[in-house]
Amino acid sequence: MIIILKPGATKKDADEIIRQIAAVGLKPLYLPGTERTVLGAIGDERILGKLHIENHPLVERLSPVLTPYKLVSREIHPRDTVVRIDGVPVGGRHFTVIAGPCAVEDSRQMLLTAQAVKRAGARCLRGGAYKPRTSPYSFQGLGLEGLQILHEVSRTLQMPAVTEVVEVADVTAVERYASAFQVGARNMQNFRLLKAVGQSRKPVILKRGMAASVEDLLLAAEYILSEGNPSVILCERGIRTFETATRYTLDLNAIPHIKQHSHLPVIVDPSHGTGVREYVIPMAKAAVACGADGLLVEVHHNPKEALSDGHQSLDPREFARLMKGLRPYVAAAGRRM
Ligand code: PEP
Ligand code: MN
Repeated sequence: MIIILKPGATKKDADEIIRQIAAVGLKPLYLPGTERTVLGAIGDERILGKLHIENHPLVERLSPVLTPYKLVSREIHPRDTVVRIDGVPVGGRHFTVIAGPCAVEDSRQMLLTAQAVKRAGARCLRGGAYKPRTSPYSFQGLGLEGLQILHEVSRTLQMPAVTEVVEVADVTAVERYASAFQVGARNMQNFRLLKAVGQSRKPVILKRGMAASVEDLLLAAEYILSEGNPSVILCERGIRTFETATRYTLDLNAIPHIKQHSHLPVIVDPSHGTGVREYVIPMAKAAVACGADGLLVEVHHNPKEALSDGHQSLDPREFARLMKGLRPYVAAAGRRM
């Protein structure tokens, strides 16, 4: 429920109402605006009814949040959220490119790839240490060693690193070595994992499940925010449809839809979204045009030798071409890269 206070209500008045909301076990929110102070009460609204807050002399009116997700909703938080990955902004007027290999393979591969993406203008690194692979016989990632390599390269190049966490037991290690968690498509509804990263204060890139609706994605993000972590970046990475020409169907409709309903930043992964190297650049441009806040792109210093997703990884030259090609689109969208 949103509680709109009358003009002139002070912080002290707001605090008194917040105390009442908290006392009945609901989560209070304090949302000061330029003209009005707005409060939120998250939880079972029948409990709130018993407080008769609408009769408080400083309450102008109550307005229910109609969406099933609350903290993620623009109704609660009208302005765009900017999430910072170790100081690198994602959201607002920024267009942020996160790039690197699908998987961390060894120090040399990680360093060469990282140097290339940095040179071309990427702001953050990616690289999976724990790889959720469809086949148990495929390369599963280096695990802890991969995290350590990623951390070392990230420190050497002064670039924040993002890596996937696939289970609750690994949250502490990933939190120690990376600047942000990635929760992958296959774990989007692993609610225990969502709660665990929700208890961290590091940002979370939450990828849309390949069979998840946008509402499912927003409710998954709600799990993280409701645990107290406000720094969530949503990621559209393609969904399964009847179309088999590409690995997945990159659902760019989701971007304006999410922008309308949520304040969270949303980035696009054109690598998994298409599964075809040649389609990554055009779909990356389309992502800028439809309002995305950034990209997550797979790059390998030598894609032919990649242990995973080589066919969709750009090489350093192609990545430099992508970054150069994006510039006019980013400028036209009124953003900075
Ligand atoms: C990845 O980013 O390497 C990955 C496994 O992505 P997704 O979870 O979207 O399949
Ligand atoms: Mn991959």
